[in-house]
Formats: sequence, C-alpha cells, structure tokens
Amino acid sequence: MKTLFIPNGHNPDLRGNPEASIIHLPRPSSLAVVPSAFPFVKPRLQVKEGDRVSLGSPLFEDKRRPELRFLSPGGGIIENIIFGPRRIVTAIIIRLDEKEEREFFQPLENEDLETMDREELMQHLVKGGLWPLFRSLPFRAIADTKELPDTLYVRMDSHQPFSALPEAYLQGHLEAFRFGIRVLKKLAGQLAVYTCAEQHSFVLNECQGVVNHTVFGRYPAQDPGVVHYHLRKKGNTGKAWFITGEDVLLIAHLLETGTYPGERTYAMGGTGLASPCHVRTRFGAPVSHLIEACDPLEGNFRNIAGGLFRGRNAGQEGFMSMYETSLTRIPEGKEKEYFGFMRPGLSKNSVSRTFLSALFNRPAKVDCNTHGEERACINCGTCTRLCPVEMLPQFTMKALHADAIEEALAHGLLDCVQCGLCAYACPSKIDLSGIFGSAREKLYQEQQKGA
Ligand code: SF4
Ligand code: SF4
Repeated sequence: MKTLFIPNGHNPDLRGNPEASIIHLPRPSSLAVVPSAFPFVKPRLQVKEGDRVSLGSPLFEDKRRPELRFLSPGGGIIENIIFGPRRIVTAIIIRLDEKEEREFFQPLENEDLETMDREELMQHLVKGGLWPLFRSLPFRAIADTKELPDTLYVRMDSHQPFSALPEAYLQGHLEAFRFGIRVLKKLAGQLAVYTCAEQHSFVLNECQGVVNHTVFGRYPAQDPGVVHYHLRKKGNTGKAWFITGEDVLLIAHLLETGTYPGERTYAMGGTGLASPCHVRTRFGAPVSHLIEACDPLEGNFRNIAGGLFRGRNAGQEGFMSMYETSLTRIPEGKEKEYFGFMRPGLSKNSVSRTFLSALFNRPAKVDCNTHGEERACINCGTCTRLCPVEMLPQFTMKALHADAIEEALAHGLLDCVQCGLCAYACPSKIDLSGIFGSAREKLYQEQQKGA
C-alpha cells in the first residue's frame, strides 16, 4: 500500500454536514439527462418529444464520437427537451410510466470475467451506456476507447464539503463493489484505488486488498488529478484515467444484472436543510424531489449540484446529472450587511485569520455571498499556498490575460484540477478556477482539431 501526503489544500469546517444515515425515497414522477454536464460532448439527439423510451434506451450520441451512447435512466415518455443558448441541449426530461419497460444487455458471470478479453469487456460497458464514467487526465474528457491507460484511479471519497461518504454509498453494496473492482482490473495497466486516510477507517477495514493507496491531506488531496500529479513526481508517468467509488457500483450493477442502473445515493448538505443526510433514489432525479426528503427551510436558497466548490447552480426545477452525487442547499446571501466592514466576523467563514471566527473552534456558516466585487490581484499569495498541484495561480492568470499560453502551460495550467479553492480564497474575488477552466477547454478543442 502506498501512502501519499499532499501538503497544500484547505478543509473548511462548515455547518450542515450530512449524516451517514440513508433515506430511501419513492420513485419520482420524472427523471432527466443533462447532456451539457458531459465534458466536450456535442449531443446528436436520437429521440424527440412524445417518443416512448425504456430504461436503457439510447437518447443521444456524441457527434464527434458516435460510439459513445447516452441512455435513458427511466422508462416512459419524452416529455420535454430543453435547449439553452446556441441550441445546446440542457435537459431531456422523461415522464415515468407506472410500469417501466427496460432494455436488457448481456449479464456477466464471474467465470465470464476470467475468460473475456479487455476489448470485449469494454464493448459491454460502451453498449450499456456507462463508458462516460471513465474520464482521462489531464482534460477530464470521457476516456478514449482506443487507448489503454497506464493507471486507473478509483477515488473513494472526495473530501469536498457535504460530499457522499463511502460508509453511506457502500452500505449493503460491498460485494458489488468488489465485483466492480475486478472488472476495472481487466481494463487498466495498473489500478490505484485510494481513500482519504484520516476519515475513512471503514473503507480501509472493509476494502482490505482493494484499497491500495491512502492519501493524507486536506481538500482536494483526494482528487485523481492531485494524486496523479504527486505520483508523477515519484516517476509514475503515462496516461491516466479515473472513476469514482460510487460509479464502480453502477458498473457492477450493469454487468451483474444486464440492466442499466436505476438508482444511486446522494449526499444532501448545507444550512438550507433541517435534516441533512444521504438519500437513495433514481438516477437523474429532480432536485426538488431530493430536497423535499431533508426538510428544506423556507427562504432564498441556492441548490448546488456536484459539490460546494465545483458544483453548478441546479436551480429549483433542475435535475441531477450523471457525475453528481451531492446536492448542497445554502443561502443566496444577497442581503446587504450593514457596516459589514466594521463587524468582527464572529461567524464569518474565511481562509485567512482576519475575522474573529478564527478564534473559535466551531463550524462556520457558508452562503453564496462574495462580500465584494472583483478587484485587481494584490499578490497576497493565498492562492499559491492553497493550490494542491503547486501551481502559481496568480501568474498563470496573468499569463492567460496576456495571451501567453506557453507561459501559462509552464506554470502548470494542465495540472490544475479545478478544485475551486483559489477562487474561494482570493481576497480580490477573482474567479481563477473559472479562468483556468475556460483556457483548458480551449486547449482541448484545439488539440482535437489538430489530431
Ligand atoms: S489570492 Fe487573489 S489576490 Fe491573492 S495572489 Fe492569488 S489572485 Fe492575487
Ligand atoms: S489553480 Fe487549479 S488546482 Fe490550483 S487551487 Fe486553483 S483551481 Fe485548484
């Protein structure tokens, strides 16, 4: 077992952490797929409004890579296809039938797994619509089926505030998880399953012989990009893919039962919920359906799908996408704070120790207020101190503003894991991770054109 220590990062102590208990929710009346949440995918629709679909029928394919199939998470009628700016498909909504039809794929027995070759196994996953769960570094695009990675990382816990706990999502599914790991062993040169050592003795006890790396460090030490960066420094070079522990269960479900997985566990956190906990419900469930289960408070709250630092505003009527396993509800925080600059900040959440809250060892409140607008960089170095991949975010940002892309790459733009910490901590309110995200996207598009 390898032990890795990541020196930088930050763990904010915030109110509203979910309990490990799980509430099993009844079936929602509709589900959706959010195509815009798949990185670098240009959807070509294969259905139209009014069509009847089964659980596991194709909904759309990628125009650039038509072999990628994106399947329906439920059986029913296509109720609505929502388009965003430039006619980007933002959601395909399916109204569920009372009795859902389902597509059947070839299930695999334990012995099949021994005899089957890698190519055949990959085809099972592609046909079953779960290939998009494999993402490649550094761009985090969906992995290329024609490549073989040197390392496949399995991230068990994300350490992001309010994210899903392995104790919760593995509850009752340990055997399926072990089967999923055997599947992954066939797909990659080397498999690195890792967990965050301080928090999850449960994973270490229950997954002995499966988890082979432990990572010490604050958020986002457990990010596959961060782990890869630090292992690379120790000579572990080459192509790397990653997948999350929650997704290993989906793969096991597909291959064991021959049906597209219908359920997953979501972590529900934030001060906008009176009873934050984990819920188990359908894949692609509506945000409102999840929130209702955790006693939402009245008021102006934002629902963030996919994690506090990295997530997106899912709105009140949105749906969960394939990669999102947590939903955070926090106050919008747009109310004016009178004489805010004179207040001691007893309950303010801050990385620096300028507020009195730093003296008290108690969880802080978090809201969406930025407490000010963007200003010029003051070279305070906070972003550099936090960056887990030892970038110099302020210089990278300045190089990008000057169109000096080579310089930005030399500062480590491709190592950025878009954890959002630099933007969260920046006293000048500069959206550093957003700037790096757009630059990386452009680089990926150019690389694809040149390929
Ligand atoms: S944290 Fe913000 S202000 Fe400070 S160095 Fe980084 S970019 Fe500049
Ligand atoms: S530069 Fe990237 S990796 Fe570093 S803190 Fe910012 S978002 Fe995270």
